[in-house]
Amino acid sequence: MKPMATRRKVIQRMLEGAVFLGGGGLIWGSAIKANSKSDYVLRPPGALKEKDFLKACIKCGQCIEACPYDTLKLAQPGDGITNGTPYFEPRTIPCYLCTDMPCTDSCPSGALDLKRLSKELEVPNINNSKMGLAVIHQESCVAYWGIQCEACYRACPLIDKAISLKYEENSVTGKHAKLLPVVHSDVCTGCGVCEHVCIVEKAAIFVLPIDKSTGKVGDHYIKSWEKSDEKRIKENIKSADDDKDIESAIDYLNDDDLIDN
Ligand code: SF4
Ligand code: SF4
Ligand code: SF4
Repeated sequence: MKPMATRRKVIQRMLEGAVFLGGGGLIWGSAIKANSKSDYVLRPPGALKEKDFLKACIKCGQCIEACPYDTLKLAQPGDGITNGTPYFEPRTIPCYLCTDMPCTDSCPSGALDLKRLSKELEVPNINNSKMGLAVIHQESCVAYWGIQCEACYRACPLIDKAISLKYEENSVTGKHAKLLPVVHSDVCTGCGVCEHVCIVEKAAIFVLPIDKSTGKVGDHYIKSWEKSDEKRIKENIKSADDDKDIESAIDYLNDDDLIDN
């Protein structure tokens, strides 16, 4: 082979390699995008935890058919969400919290479980759903600027329970009060009606999956003023007493008189 032709071939291979690497980059890039999107997916009411949900869902689409608002979508290739599984995007169509829970009720596999919508022995109630949690980006929420809005607050199906308005003096004008929306995580269902109606260009209030919207304090913190933690305090005192018993037993065994005898 002539040297010129050889060089051309080498350059051609290098370019092919570059294209291949570039393609790989694209594939890898979209895989990262896909993963991150599936991390933030919102599932229908009563869905099991994401890992269990993915194992249980048989991708039959019955929940999607049962939804009267076309809230639920079937994940398609390229959506970045496990193919064939149901999800929703509140900015487009939120969950309207149907009291008869048709989506959850229609699920034949247990991926959506009515039991997850009941507290202890009560009957299932859609208001117990935890599809996610609404969070507020204060910098883009005009109410936090001092402009009267209340759109999310008024639209929330659990008004004054899941979301309330907090009065705060407006230090800029010195005259008016700000009415600030505040979400209550113990009640918020993650339905996303607030996100749907938010008036700014990119919603300032939006729903994230619970594990993405909440922090975690360590187990070593105890709230002495809460009933649920009283038991833990007693247990801690008891184990401290046990430690003292062990200490005094050791002291007794190390007692000089005992050793001399
Ligand atoms: S509760 Fe109603 S609106 Fe919400 S996803 Fe289920 S069927 Fe659709
Ligand atoms: S009805 Fe249940 S099994 Fe069928 S797609 Fe919906 S979640 Fe999956
Ligand atoms: S997601 Fe928004 S509208 Fe739905 S319950 Fe929570 S605060 Fe209310």
